[in-house]
Amino acid sequence: MNYKDFLFEKFPNAITEREFVRKSHNLLAQWGFRDENTIACVCCCRDEISQTLPILVRDVWGEAFNLAGLAGLFSAGRTGLNACLHHSPHQEGKERYIFYVAPHIGIDRDGNWGSVKRKGQHFDSTSCGALCAFFKEIVEGKIKTAIDERDLEMCYLRIRLLRKLSFSHVPDLIELTLAAHEVTLEDIEDDLQRLIDPQKADFALLSGIQINAPDTNYMATLKAYAMVNGVRKELDFV
Ligand SMILES: [Zn+2]
Repeated sequence: MNYKDFLFEKFPNAITEREFVRKSHNLLAQWGFRDENTIACVCCCRDEISQTLPILVRDVWGEAFNLAGLAGLFSAGRTGLNACLHHSPHQEGKERYIFYVAPHIGIDRDGNWGSVKRKGQHFDSTSCGALCAFFKEIVEGKIKTAIDERDLEMCYLRIRLLRKLSFSHVPDLIELTLAAHEVTLEDIEDDLQRLIDPQKADFALLSGIQINAPDTNYMATLKAYAMVNGVRKELDFV
């Protein structure tokens, strides 16, 4: 079996990341979002293999504001989000923002999740490394709960995900990645609701799982909508 069989079995709507960003740009044009009147914000992991997303976003929308830390969690918080909102262009009496939210997971040639081959290395490594480290702590029953001010993003990751997980069963890595997506989305949407005046600003939110595959990065879309004059418009990514 090819790794793509495993990839599309779990994420049937996955498309290449390049296609995803291009499609989002084309779909949002109908609601007035253009590169010159919109600020892009990206919430993906610090991992170098995740940086294709901000680069593709930059190529289409211009330089993007980074909202995330390890695992793509929303570590910039309300302060970071507020700063980003204040950097938006003002055109046609509106501000416009677009948010890309995408925690990540690797898949290797044999279809093993959480595993990638990195440039110049002869061995496989983990992806997302932070989520895999947390996953190992869960499996071994040794979750570190102390706050280490020199490792704050990892502490935040544990605290935030522990609040989400039910532990009715031990989650697998894909479930953990989906939980990372869910908490990030919950927090950003909650803050957006408090911070955005729908009369003054429109925004779009596109989220999913970034999949680091052997040939390229894919995106499996989980949520895609725009809020235009306070009215929600779904974007067709199926
Ligand atoms: Zn990562």
